[in-house]
Amino acid sequence: MGVGMQPDLPPAMTDPSLAGGRVTVDLGALVSNWRMLAQRAGSAATAAVVKGDAYGVGLEAAARALAEAGCQTFFVALPEEGIRLRAAVRDATIYVLNGLMPECAAVYVSTKLRPVLSTWSEIEEWAELRRNGVNIGSAVHVDTGMHRLGLTPGQARKLSQEPDLLAAISPDLIMSHIACADTPEHNLNRKQLAAFRAVCVLLPGIPASLANSAGIMLGHDYHFDLVRPGIALYGGGFVGGTSPLQPVVTLEARVLQIRDIKSGEPVGYGAAETVAQDSRIAIVAVGYADGYHRRAGSSDEQAGARAFLHGHHVPLVGRVSMDLIAIDVTGLSGVVRGDWVELIGPNVPLDEVAYHAGTIGYELLTGLGSRYSRRYIGP
Ligand SMILES: *Cc1c(COP(=O)(O)O)cnc(C)c1O
Repeated sequence: MGVGMQPDLPPAMTDPSLAGGRVTVDLGALVSNWRMLAQRAGSAATAAVVKGDAYGVGLEAAARALAEAGCQTFFVALPEEGIRLRAAVRDATIYVLNGLMPECAAVYVSTKLRPVLSTWSEIEEWAELRRNGVNIGSAVHVDTGMHRLGLTPGQARKLSQEPDLLAAISPDLIMSHIACADTPEHNLNRKQLAAFRAVCVLLPGIPASLANSAGIMLGHDYHFDLVRPGIALYGGGFVGGTSPLQPVVTLEARVLQIRDIKSGEPVGYGAAETVAQDSRIAIVAVGYADGYHRRAGSSDEQAGARAFLHGHHVPLVGRVSMDLIAIDVTGLSGVVRGDWVELIGPNVPLDEVAYHAGTIGYELLTGLGSRYSRRYIGP
């Protein structure tokens, strides 16, 4: 590379035949999950949380499909995500959850991004901008017990006692976030609900929002004026019973080699698992460099995740390598080199793989790597 030359850009992974794994995103399923949640939310409006590249499924594609289905309000974490989103959905309302980050105000104004104001200094900075003619909306985030972002209830009271400041920012939304919505019986849920109601009484006449995906399932009391589902849109995170959500992401990987091994022989690094009978093993081209967690692997002590091919579930064998996993296809006829194996999808639920990896579906989705070929289907 000569002086002044640009380094070569990495080649785009667009040719599926060159990739070890492929991700299929079903935008029709995404839209139908949004509609189902909107129905559950009753008279509350239903936004979409699309931070983290829409939980790994692709910000632009997801947001366009949802906007076309009628979603008008979106939440991202970062102003950078807001800029990308604005280019994809020109007329939508976009809230930036991480708020008015220092030295970022000009971007919020030029891109029409609404900051979610979580500290007193953000409130003052935004009020100053509004007094100087900025005409962009905002949300005020109040912490009701999670102790992450948000004004304290005391600061919310103080804001309610400063009508000039409140009038200057004139927030479009008052919101809070629930820590334990995925554990319906947790007593923090009712405590946070009561604390949020008290905040709404202090700051009347402002639309209110409390529920994430799991919060929607807690029932009508938690819905207020706007619900903010994320993970459920992408088919994950449903607690209790059969999920009414459609899987959005299918992850498949290719079979590279099939081999027969004798009873008692080990498979993979560390000889962590030995097979208990004569076995046929297929080596598959996805590993932890692709975001398929090492902890989802299998050992003599603990069974790992499952995969699915030719109509059958098959177990992982041994450790997950950087680029490879092994599955046990003993007794399964017709498995050949080049076959596609489902690792996550309609037959292998996201949350099941997450459970084996000792994590949550959110982390698996947002961690899906950059080596996959990706395709979008529907709506
Ligand atoms: C991420 C997030 C959500 C969405 O949460 P899910 O559990 O994915 O539905 C909603 N509100 C806030 C403040 C968030 O940070």
